[in-house]
Amino acid sequence: MAHIVIIGAGLTGISTAYHLEQQIFSDYVIFEKEATIGGLCGSVQQDGFTFDFTGHLLHASDDYFYSLIKDIVGLDTLNVITRRSFIYSHDTYTEYPYQINLNGLPTSIIAECIEGFVKRHTHIQKPNTFIQWVLKNFGPGFAKHFFMPYQRKIFAYDLRRITPSWTGRFVPSTSLPQIIDGVLGHNSGNVGYNARFLYPKKDGIFSWVKKLADQLHNPIRTNMTVERIDMRKKLVHFTNGHIEPYKILVTTMPLDRLIDTVHETSRTNLKQAGPNLRCNSVINFNLGIKRPNVSDKHWVYFPENKYPFYRIGFWHNFSETMAPAGCSSLYGEFSHIGKSRNWIEQTTQASIAHAQELFDISDAEIVTKKVLNISHAYVIYDAWRDKNLPKIHQRLHEHSIYSVGRYGEWKYSSMQEAVLDGKATAQTLLIRPAQKIIETKSYIPRTRPQKEIQNG
Ligand SMILES: Cc1cc2nc3c(=O)[nH]c(=O)nc-3n(C[C@H](O)[C@H](O)[C@H](O)COP(=O)(O)OP(=O)(O)OC[C@H]3O[C@@H](n4cnc5c(N)ncnc54)[C@H](O)[C@@H]3O)c2cc1C
Repeated sequence: MAHIVIIGAGLTGISTAYHLEQQIFSDYVIFEKEATIGGLCGSVQQDGFTFDFTGHLLHASDDYFYSLIKDIVGLDTLNVITRRSFIYSHDTYTEYPYQINLNGLPTSIIAECIEGFVKRHTHIQKPNTFIQWVLKNFGPGFAKHFFMPYQRKIFAYDLRRITPSWTGRFVPSTSLPQIIDGVLGHNSGNVGYNARFLYPKKDGIFSWVKKLADQLHNPIRTNMTVERIDMRKKLVHFTNGHIEPYKILVTTMPLDRLIDTVHETSRTNLKQAGPNLRCNSVINFNLGIKRPNVSDKHWVYFPENKYPFYRIGFWHNFSETMAPAGCSSLYGEFSHIGKSRNWIEQTTQASIAHAQELFDISDAEIVTKKVLNISHAYVIYDAWRDKNLPKIHQRLHEHSIYSVGRYGEWKYSSMQEAVLDGKATAQTLLIRPAQKIIETKSYIPRTRPQKEIQNG
């Protein structure tokens, strides 16, 4: 029996395993439901093109994360890229972020945004909703022309019920001088957390995650889907009949699914929480195009309702190896909550038709299509989540279950945070039960054993 059982070999699960091993601890086992590892940081190869699960760009603002990337992945294997991202509205491309780059928009829109900013609702002391937060910080003009339509598309959820607790680094602030400079076209646009990013030169985003996974001594057991977790007996039941006992369970599966699977004790009451955890899904459509340089942009945001997607990006501008020579490749994303297969199919077709029109791509030029479904994409930050999430984690901790990572913690987070979450989890676990762990004498042998991915 392994002391620590890790569920999920996405980046957080891999990072947890890696950081346990870094602390000379190997008494763990890691299970993944899919045949391949990487989770959302996977990459798909098709007809010579590489597609990720929508644009996945590396932002290394943390010193530890940067040094890990440098040591394990190697900076020479990564492109260092300065963002070229835009907003498309009123038939005009304006540089991201909208709130400092109004240059080129119709005069009436510019006037509405400036007037709204001057009269922004600064009297709101503590905004309870995202809408109030936007009105307080940017005013009604920016709200009407960008924030409301764009966020409605990305969340696919009633904005009146969304809190501002997620905004933080994701929404750059603005000021009157910046807005005026932007109207005059003087801003550089290099604002915000993603102004510069790294991207692997070869094989998509999965290539660097694989290099981290390759460091592990213990095998990752794929094709292992958790079906039920018995909190009382501390057993994980898998769909193939395998039962794994644990002392500590680290799970990176989505929290709502985790709650579905737990067979709880009479005092935990977790089941009631499950339906209150809300999350949307993203459909990610990808096109391989037989024409070079369909666009020189990295990605474009689409706030207007006439376009079903909220963003379109171009793989070939992240790395030239993402598309065969003489070709381009494009990705698009739209969100939904619980829509039918029919609706998804129709919206995908409509989105592809709009993308073709916008970037002048003929049917004959499309050499391959790949549609990927991200079932858990953006969790919904509503009042229920903000109030109850800590209690859910508290109850799980009482039963030695640590639900971590983007969906385990039910939050927005990046690849950098996934790695840091794994590091923090490993440290927490090894500090808390230190005595027990020392007793297990689970040291990694000095010579690295031959590792292979085990199925089932
Ligand atoms: C649309 C979108 C765009 C993004 N863009 C960026 C970006 O540009 N830059 C960036 O840094 N980050 C980006 N991210 C965030 C990034 O993808 C995540 O932070 C990271 O991948 C989270 O890793 P994770 O291991 O926590 O979760 P996951 O990748 O979801 O891993 C969880 C793993 O658990 C497995 N699992 C689930 N259920 C079970 C079960 N029952 N049994 C066994 N295993 C199970 C899954 O198969 C999966 O492998 C983006 C995310 C989204 C949704």
